[in-house]
Amino acid sequence: QDSWQGMGITVAGLGVSGLSAARALAGLGASVTVVDGGESPAHRDKAALLEEEGISVRLGDAETLPESTELVVTSPGWKPSSPLFEAARARGVDVVGDVEIAWRLRGPGAAPWLAITGTNGKTTTTQMLASILRAAGLRTAAVGNIGTPIIDVVLEGDDAYDVFAVELSSYQLHWAPSLRAHSGAVLNLAPDHLDWHGSMEAYAADKGRIYEGNQVACVYNCADKATEDLVRGADVEEGCRAIGFTLGTPGPSELGVVEGILVDRAFVENRHKNAQELAEVGDVTPSAPHNIANALAAAALARAFGVEPAAVRDGLRAFTPDAHRIAHVADVDQVAYVDDSKATNTHAAQASLAAYESIVWVAGGLAKGATFDELVAGAARRLRGVVLIGADRALIREALERHAPEVPVVDLDRTDTGAMSAAVREAARLARPGDTVLMAPACASMDMFTNYNKRGEAFAEAVRELGATSV
Ligand code: ADP
Repeated sequence: QDSWQGMGITVAGLGVSGLSAARALAGLGASVTVVDGGESPAHRDKAALLEEEGISVRLGDAETLPESTELVVTSPGWKPSSPLFEAARARGVDVVGDVEIAWRLRGPGAAPWLAITGTNGKTTTTQMLASILRAAGLRTAAVGNIGTPIIDVVLEGDDAYDVFAVELSSYQLHWAPSLRAHSGAVLNLAPDHLDWHGSMEAYAADKGRIYEGNQVACVYNCADKATEDLVRGADVEEGCRAIGFTLGTPGPSELGVVEGILVDRAFVENRHKNAQELAEVGDVTPSAPHNIANALAAAALARAFGVEPAAVRDGLRAFTPDAHRIAHVADVDQVAYVDDSKATNTHAAQASLAAYESIVWVAGGLAKGATFDELVAGAARRLRGVVLIGADRALIREALERHAPEVPVVDLDRTDTGAMSAAVREAARLARPGDTVLMAPACASMDMFTNYNKRGEAFAEAVRELGATSV
């Protein structure tokens, strides 16, 4: 770690990961400058705090590379094409992210990483994995893209943990060239964040970095060939195995589902058995198909690390999903109201639409360049009705006209915050007993709400109002 002493490091951005990197590196003796384009009072307050800790801050210029820079540390929002990084490349200076720094800061006896990425399901799967590892009596933490900056945890020392459950975004993988996980999983691949990566190929390649140098297992989704292709293209340690997960009957080297039981055929200790029972589908909440897939991926990583079947079951049972992910809010007049506000893209919405039979769908928001034909065509026969809100709702309405012309659509033509309560009232009018009103917008929330949490809370509040007025 002496190598950090006096090193000139420029950190891009005063966000959570930037602050954590700046403090950690300054603590190791590096000469750190944080640069940020903003100049608001909030920026100034943060800057003043850092200056007191001996970290230089330059506000109002996100482009010029400080003269003394030997290494640049990025933040997630900054695109690879940012002028600061172009300047670094032109001078032959490396650009890396917080995950790379954390990886370089590990000591020789550090806890191995079980790493998870994918377009959807990362947070859920990482939390499931941490729950399983805890049930096995291991000291662990869910870190990375999930909230706790990974550098902070690594700095607690090699002895503090046995193993980490690490959620990695495609951005973090892009900037972590020397990461070598014990085992890694790509849950699924669908177009997302293409504006950042430039193309689907570049996005997939960044996700695929999670497999590079894996020691024990590269876990892929049998239903998503792109994830398997990434495994085939990866350069791994000798003896590292490709392990698939499937919602169907598993083949050898796969985990899957047989008559409502999650089974493992990849890691079977007893040579006289050809499959190991892990848990029942009902042990997983919610037990929607996509979430069973998440559970299988988490189980595969845990099994690769040597966790016993009973701990997989106990860990899955102990797991409770975060808010706004297919959360059952209430039943009103025999109609179930479900909040999947976290479905901020079409791939996520597709998963929750597939989990219910007769649906009144509340959708719309910011489309981020997505198209809705495939989503709507796939869900058409399950839709009792649709209520549209938000800025880009016309895109969904047009797809509905093309693929589900019979389905009644209420286009609220509203983007104010009160629109959610109107939408829920309209949905209640369309629903019949036994139906599910599902808010899975397939869009980002920022046209109407601060974030998807606020959107989910508005939905739940509207459902409560509805419950109070219906008798
Ligand atoms: P991420 O961390 O990748 O954003 P989350 O676990 O927070 O993923 O889930 C995000 C959204 O994606 C949720 O709304 C959920 O319904 C949906 N989802 C979760 N797992 C999957 C999956 N395996 N495939 C498709 N959609 C999923």
